[in-house]
Amino acid sequence: MTKLRVHEIYTSVQGESSLVGLPCIFIRLAGCPLRCVYCDTPQALDFSAGEEMSVKAIVEHIKTLSPNLVLVTGGEPLAQRGTPELLQALTAVKEIVQLETSGSISLKQVPSSVCNILDIKTPGSGEEISNDWRNLSLLKAGDEIKIVLTNRHDYEWARDLLAEQLSDTAASILFSPCWDSLNPQDLVAWILEDALNVRMQLQMHKVIWGAEKTGV
Ligand code: SF4
Repeated sequence: MTKLRVHEIYTSVQGESSLVGLPCIFIRLAGCPLRCVYCDTPQALDFSAGEEMSVKAIVEHIKTLSPNLVLVTGGEPLAQRGTPELLQALTAVKEIVQLETSGSISLKQVPSSVCNILDIKTPGSGEEISNDWRNLSLLKAGDEIKIVLTNRHDYEWARDLLAEQLSDTAASILFSPCWDSLNPQDLVAWILEDALNVRMQLQMHKVIWGAEKTGV
């Protein structure tokens, strides 16, 4: 029986991605090998955080919750070996299954019916070296690339990346200002000035509940 370490499961509205605002079930798995400077889930970084649950028990619980959208996040969900099995099982009980991943671990085992939200780590994240660039070729229509920008240097780095490596990606691209360090007004101005075809997103849950509130 496959088991996973689960930090928390809760229902809220999706705070990010192109599905922002939709009722959503969040499955936050425990553990992440990265240490981004802006990490807003430090409580989930330890691989011993939370409790162990079988895939079957997780799915049975998810079936009792009403939203038809479920997000598997972390931590880094793909750091646990049982995650692809969980994703596959979730696609049988919910209409839309999203996976948010740091981009440091291969997407090869992720079922094709799952919508990937692939983070790309900028220099300002402190984890640029963790990007597994081979994942870009595994993205499909319906997937999303999310780039959290901490400052102007990150923005220019991401803008160059768009031109050099993402011009023909099937995924849609989200630029997200780091909550603590980049003014969203500046980011909007830069995107318009450079006529970039990207979606600017805020972390809506932080706008609603504040940056410190967890489990929402
Ligand atoms: S990848 Fe995500 S969970 Fe891991 S340290 Fe970075 S922001 Fe935090």
